[in-house]
Amino acid sequence: MESTMGIVALVNDYIASRRDDDKHGGSIYPSAIGLCPRKAIYIYRGEEPTNPFGPRLLRVFEVGKIFEDFVLEALKSADVLLGCHPPVKDLYFSGKIDGVVAQGGQTYIVELKTIHSKAFLYKNLPYDHHVYQVLCYHLLWRKLFTTQLSAPHIVYISKDDLLIDEYVVPLSREAEVQERMDYLVACAQKGELPDRPHSDSHEHWACWNKKGKRPSCDYFDLCWGLRKE
Ligand code: SF4
Repeated sequence: MESTMGIVALVNDYIASRRDDDKHGGSIYPSAIGLCPRKAIYIYRGEEPTNPFGPRLLRVFEVGKIFEDFVLEALKSADVLLGCHPPVKDLYFSGKIDGVVAQGGQTYIVELKTIHSKAFLYKNLPYDHHVYQVLCYHLLWRKLFTTQLSAPHIVYISKDDLLIDEYVVPLSREAEVQERMDYLVACAQKGELPDRPHSDSHEHWACWNKKGKRPSCDYFDLCWGLRKE
């Protein structure tokens, strides 16, 4: 039988070419607010990742996009989608909201996230870093636009059985998000690199993938001094 490896390589190349390289220096990304602040500042500084994501992880991201687009299409068809991927940008922050929805007399931001169906069983959704991300969008929107928004929603979609669940994020958590945003802006202004938040061990899951025996952070070598800063 003829090998199909050529197709695999073509698909991997196609996915790599579709990566919207929207992570440019000079901005802090809302998706980074709840994750490692050191990494957020590496991106802000425009550092090139020293450990770029491989084809498998890029395919995982692509699957996420496919499912998210599917849900956005459903919202469009229901005529409740006011905005699809509207950009929000100020002097320090930049990002694209998944959707702005008007429904039942309320207008709110929606963030779509794909997970494995098993993640629904652990009852620990929504994850904090997703809450931080969507509240960061909410705070930026309030600062930039006049449309009044209700509390944002996070919608989780399982990749294996299209299970969908929705969470309304309490605005009572805005203050802690604002605090993180202010901290990152202060680091950017002062040219400071935040300490590593995950103790002194590189084996924290955010830095190192124990199972795969490889970095899970794309700035691992830079962060741990394997490449000169
Ligand atoms: S390697 Fe770990 S501590 Fe360093 S930037 Fe990445 S996540 Fe943060």
